[in-house]
Amino acid sequence: MDVVVLGAGAAGMMCAIEAGRRGRRAVVLDHAERIGKKILISGGGRCNFTNVNVRAENFLSENPHFAKSALAGFRPADMIALVEKHRIPYHEKTLGQMFCDRSAQEIVTLLEREAKDAGVGIVTGAKVESVERLAAEGGPDFVEQVNHRFTVTTSVGSFRARSVVVATGGLSIPKMGATGLGYDLARRFGMNVIECRPALVPLVFAPEEQERWCDLSGLSTEVIATADGTKRPVRFREKMLITHRGLSGPAILQVSSYWRPGQAVELDLAPGARVIEPLLATKARRDAGAAAAALRGAWPARMAERWMLNHPPAGWTNAALEQFERRLHAWRVVPAGTEGYAKAEVTAGGVDTAELDAKTMESRRVPGLYFIGEVVDVTGWLGGYNFQWAWASGASAGRAA
Ligand SMILES: Cc1cc2nc3c(=O)[nH]c(=O)nc-3n(C[C@H](O)[C@H](O)[C@H](O)COP(=O)(O)OP(=O)(O)OC[C@H]3O[C@@H](n4cnc5c(N)ncnc54)[C@H](O)[C@@H]3O)c2cc1C
Repeated sequence: MDVVVLGAGAAGMMCAIEAGRRGRRAVVLDHAERIGKKILISGGGRCNFTNVNVRAENFLSENPHFAKSALAGFRPADMIALVEKHRIPYHEKTLGQMFCDRSAQEIVTLLEREAKDAGVGIVTGAKVESVERLAAEGGPDFVEQVNHRFTVTTSVGSFRARSVVVATGGLSIPKMGATGLGYDLARRFGMNVIECRPALVPLVFAPEEQERWCDLSGLSTEVIATADGTKRPVRFREKMLITHRGLSGPAILQVSSYWRPGQAVELDLAPGARVIEPLLATKARRDAGAAAAALRGAWPARMAERWMLNHPPAGWTNAALEQFERRLHAWRVVPAGTEGYAKAEVTAGGVDTAELDAKTMESRRVPGLYFIGEVVDVTGWLGGYNFQWAWASGASAGRAA
């Protein structure tokens, strides 16, 4: 084989398709019984397959510039063109997020058809066990080695390959077949791996806050969530949802990727609104009922009442009411943790980008070995950015491998 791709997710399939189109003999191996399982569950079953506003700023990485080259080489418009070629109806939901109108299955079918047209082989039910590199180049068998630099051993047999592309994804949702194989392989080949953590993940309250809020699970409101501890504050204006253990919803998932244990998340619970305004009118009533009524203008009634219970104004003077207003625009919560990989959409951290060539995704240490998609230390925001990274990094490697 010219190219053996490990993992038939978004990144691996795109890579194999690009390599196949170039006339490379490519095969994709996956231990699952079918390809693209995460694509099928993505975007609530409709796959948010790209975001038209994609920029390097929408990704977390130790090297924020690394993704630029790949993202420029395969743009959201390229993915949309592919979707249109296969006559898949789609729409923009919000904030540049592109979804299938009908089903994520159509994206998987697109990949299967493109792979077939490009002559790519797909082997499912093949658990990858090891990747061995043949002896160093330059020895007596050099020519043979250039053609077959690696042996990939799987549960269904061995494959020899000139290039191996690792596209085995991250650790999130282990029950869907996620494994740490990609990270293990990188380490085995002497490459640095940035510590992994769950990202795009619900946050869990400390017991005290759970007691105060979690019986309201299911309530949601628009907020601006700001992550602490980042060099430049990153803010997300989206919905927040109270859960039975803490907080979720898009705004919270977004900041969770930046959050580290011990840090606070700051929430503006009434973006752009001046909630106490009605209480400041000269003849207005100033009491708990009036304050709760003002809050009900901004939030669901039960949340307004609970806020009054948990954070009542310190008094009824203008100064006390102003302080009350400031507090609800800057509620600082220190989460006890996250819901972990079981509920995380992605894994942050991963193969250190300093180990990879930004144009081709090839290892700088191990010629012929490539890493793409979520296994790399490039993590997108919620909203189609992670698939765009998978397509773009896959296409980069597919043009080179
Ligand atoms: C619930 C959910 C919803 C999401 N929705 C969206 C969305 O709408 N938009 C978006 O942009 N992103 C979304 N994401 C994130 C997105 O799914 C991932 O970022 C993307 O799938 C990563 O692609 P990948 O190809 O790198 O890895 P994966 O898609 O995870 O593919 C890795 C493949 O490797 C295989 N594999 C792993 N270990 C082995 C092994 N040892 N042997 C053989 N095969 C192996 C796996 O079976 C899998 O098929 C969502 C994630 C989740 C969990």
